Amino acid sequence: MLTIPAFISCNQEKKGDNPFFSEYNTPFEAPPFDKIDTSDYMPAFMEGMKQQNAEIAAITDNKEAPTFDNTILAFDKSGKLLNNVSLVFFNVNEANTNEKMQEIAQKVTPLLSRHSDDISMNAKLFERIKAIYDKRDNSGLDAQQKRVVEKYYHDFERDGANLSKDKQDQLRKINEELSLLSVKFGENMLAETNKNFQLVIDNKADLAGLPDGVISAAAEAATEAGKNGKWVFTLAKPSLIPFLQYAKNRDLREKIYTGYFMRGDNNNANDNKKLVMDMVRLRAEKANILGFDNYAAYVIDENMAKTTGAVDQLLNQLMKAATPVAKAELAEMQAISNAEGNNFKLQSWDWWYYAEKLRKQKYNLDENELRPYFSLENVRNGMFAVATRLYGISFQKVNNIPVYQKDVETYEVKDKDGSHLGIIYLDYFPSPSKSGGAWCTSFRSAGFENGKKVTPLVSVVFNFTKPTGNTPALLNWDETTTMFHEFGHALHGLFTEGKYTRTAGNVPTDFVELPSQVMENWAGEPEVLRMYAKHYKTGEVIPETLITKIQKSTLFNQGFDNAEIMAASILDMDYHKLAYPVKLNDVDAFEKQAMNKIGLINEILPRYRSTYFAHIFNGGYAAGYYVYSWAAVLDADAFDYFKQSGDLFNPVLAASFRKNCLQESGDDEGMVQYIKFRGQAPTIEPLLKKRGLN
Ligand SMILES: [Zn+2]
Repeated sequence: MLTIPAFISCNQEKKGDNPFFSEYNTPFEAPPFDKIDTSDYMPAFMEGMKQQNAEIAAITDNKEAPTFDNTILAFDKSGKLLNNVSLVFFNVNEANTNEKMQEIAQKVTPLLSRHSDDISMNAKLFERIKAIYDKRDNSGLDAQQKRVVEKYYHDFERDGANLSKDKQDQLRKINEELSLLSVKFGENMLAETNKNFQLVIDNKADLAGLPDGVISAAAEAATEAGKNGKWVFTLAKPSLIPFLQYAKNRDLREKIYTGYFMRGDNNNANDNKKLVMDMVRLRAEKANILGFDNYAAYVIDENMAKTTGAVDQLLNQLMKAATPVAKAELAEMQAISNAEGNNFKLQSWDWWYYAEKLRKQKYNLDENELRPYFSLENVRNGMFAVATRLYGISFQKVNNIPVYQKDVETYEVKDKDGSHLGIIYLDYFPSPSKSGGAWCTSFRSAGFENGKKVTPLVSVVFNFTKPTGNTPALLNWDETTTMFHEFGHALHGLFTEGKYTRTAGNVPTDFVELPSQVMENWAGEPEVLRMYAKHYKTGEVIPETLITKIQKSTLFNQGFDNAEIMAASILDMDYHKLAYPVKLNDVDAFEKQAMNKIGLINEILPRYRSTYFAHIFNGGYAAGYYVYSWAAVLDADAFDYFKQSGDLFNPVLAASFRKNCLQESGDDEGMVQYIKFRGQAPTIEPLLKKRGLN
């Protein structure tokens, strides 16, 4: 069955005390963070790659004819050590890094990418996989085995395994060029965001309108920049956005916003326009080599959407629905400005400032009024309680699992029948060694080994408001929904089952945000708010007036939010629908034309302009920025199904969602799994209604 290579003895590295080289002797076999030293990572990576190479050599050298067990299963189970060390290293590098860790990351990343290229272009391995693939319909494989074979075959095909040697070399070159361009794009962006622009204020009057906390943060930034006694604002969101929201000085708002949206477009050493053109051209060429009309078609072929046409249809429909709402918002804001006695037409740098005024006027909602009802503890207990009511699972805090940082909490999750489901790690607060944002990963994925289930270790990392003095951490509404969102990803990881690594929990990118986004819906329901939103001091349940305000304010600024996101999604698609050979010689003109075509109003810019669209030029989202919107259709439709049933915790629907969309999510195509739950394809109406776009 499983090929276990017999080579593990001939490494000259001392490895007696490297914790990655033996079974973890810890509760739930969790990584022994208390024993892992930074110096253990590199030897473990090297040994991990070596072991996987030997495992693959054992597959390709096998004299027996290729079978599912001696080839597909052996490959599916290969690389265990490499996987173990990668999951631990890269997660800790995001959540609790240091210079040594970053050095290792820089050193190991190109090695890992070469390692994976060597595997996907291994002709002998592909030959064996192809032999099994060709006979998959009449060799007695069960449905899951057949799916795994097809998935692997397509992976190899998509990576160029079927191409001639010449074309493969061409592809390797393109991949290498693309990865270098992407790194350069990121470096330029970092310089343009952090170095090349600062708004320095030395006249106190120019701070008018700004809240005290924002002013003191700007004073600290000035001191750090050696500009004592002045105030410094930067293009980082926590500095930029409050300035745009509150600064009365309109000229300065224009100055900082212009600084923001011109990043990478300043015709200086950090200009990204040429990189954008080169990347778009190379991607089209890559798609052409692999037999696709364009790069978007290549990417989306793997996804639920299947075709660029299906994506275009959704984005255009949402853009059409958002535009009149955005125009109405603009008119309301213009009226506020006119009433103030101004005689100018609002511009893009005015939007946040007047939106804030509109929020106050229309919804009378002050964030600080809500916070006392959303202590971190109450929100966490609330999301646990929602999961308990939906799925019958329970959470028990455990204190004997090693953690990578002392504030991390661990919970054992048990199923309805009391059996162990997995562990969830929760890491709440920002620190200088942690990346921004929030994310969910795992230290061990759910799987199957030697005939038994491997239970997952899921990790969720946040950057929430910290406790101060005697006051516990009090979350704002955005943080509250973020907690539910990431917890949704965690539930996906905890419930996943499946015999094969390739398919267990492995869903297309436009399905990924369904399990997470759907949980956000519960957070804001009055019935659920009454369950968990209690005053941290008195325990008083949140008043109905506040519940009403929360409900109403969900429609705030939706025209703007949707228009800017659709504009960016469509821009991404337009670039990646260009066919080879690409004729693109003016990025700004291309962008302008794309925005005019969809009728984006001048007062709104795409959420990301080309020269700082990191998702698509520096991250993995090329032709994929649409996935959030795609999943939003699914999550709104799924939640609507619960609501229509008259029971937010409908046990029959919950069981079906768990089985089809979480537990067995990778067993079949994303849409097939969704329809198994929903009984029909999703419709867009629930999303339009939820966002006030109907
Ligand atoms: Zn997410």
